Amino acid sequence: MIDFNRPACVGKELEYIRQAVENGKLCGDGMFTKKCSQWMADKLGTKYSLLTTSCTHALEMAAYLSDIQPGEEVIMPSYTFVSTADAFVLRGAKVVFVDIRPDTMNIDEKLIEQAITEKTRVIAPVHYAGVACEMDTILALAAKYNLKVVEDAAQGVNAYYKGKALGTIGDLGCFSFHETKNYIMGEGGALLFQKDEYLERAEILREKGTDRSKFFRGQVDKYTWVDFGSSYLPSELNAAYLYAQLEACAEIDRRRMAAWNYYNENLKELADAGYIELPFIPDYAQHNAHMFYIKLKDLETRTAFIRYLKDNGISAVFHYVPLHSAKAGLKFGRFSGEDVYTTKESERLVRLPMFYDLTLEQCETVVSTIKAFPGFAD
Ligand SMILES: *Cc1c(COP(=O)(O)O)cnc(C)c1O
Repeated sequence: MIDFNRPACVGKELEYIRQAVENGKLCGDGMFTKKCSQWMADKLGTKYSLLTTSCTHALEMAAYLSDIQPGEEVIMPSYTFVSTADAFVLRGAKVVFVDIRPDTMNIDEKLIEQAITEKTRVIAPVHYAGVACEMDTILALAAKYNLKVVEDAAQGVNAYYKGKALGTIGDLGCFSFHETKNYIMGEGGALLFQKDEYLERAEILREKGTDRSKFFRGQVDKYTWVDFGSSYLPSELNAAYLYAQLEACAEIDRRRMAAWNYYNENLKELADAGYIELPFIPDYAQHNAHMFYIKLKDLETRTAFIRYLKDNGISAVFHYVPLHSAKAGLKFGRFSGEDVYTTKESERLVRLPMFYDLTLEQCETVVSTIKAFPGFAD
């Protein structure tokens, strides 16, 4: 059986966890948490990064920091994970969905302006599959209408837009280190921002509404409850696991890219024959091989295709039932304009096995099995 995903253990994870135990500090914001933030600063060029317990929690913090109020609106694609929307719904905001581009599956930047109303406060682009949204257009709209940009870069860690790391381009950026992503810590994420103005509130929010971060830096004598907050900081055990992964990022990237390129080159024949479509990477995007997907003719073909692969020992999956048609989406959101591509394209898409340990032999098996799919025989 070839799995769809297997969480990576690349080398020093257990050694670092042992070190964390020996350091006698298991709660958050110890040595490994600092090392992870330093890595994000050095490698991705972010001024601030706070490790969090998930990307969902980073998004919750971002929604809070964006100052969106009940009844105000956030614009996002409907083709995304529930957390992008949940974070804003928790603040009482209304979600306004905009159609995606069929080529990248990202929000169609040309449709955003017509979705803006006097209630709009935030645009939340999602960098699907680690392929950048067209950020220049989005930033220009944000400047024109005085909106905040919250990037859902859950899948976009160490991927770039015109040379800038995803997650560092908007006002606030959110990463995921969930075990299904490129670099992992079990459950975890990070909140990134560049402006000093967010730091104090972000730290307070993350530390149960207290000024404990200031206390640890010796800036106040004792810490107290100063604002609304929760507990968004991960334990050192998780940070230790993550740091081993970040240190090995070149090797993780190399392996994922090899699998991605193998699929892309060897499935081209089927794409040229018109049976499938391959992912599209715009010139402005440098992706991170987070995901390899193909698109089939329609929903019926996809259902048969996934069943066929499963019968042949390969686990392939689809995801994201468009949010606007989900029960909560109907309650908390509305679709701006027409759903031309969101539903149609999401029903055709299937993700192939993609993970650190995936071997080229396994990729070969996946490709040859796909080529023998009876649906491609006519
Ligand atoms: C994985 C993912 C999330 C959620 O990440 P968690 O760390 O599991 O909370 C949010 N948005 C997108 C686009 C994702 O792919």
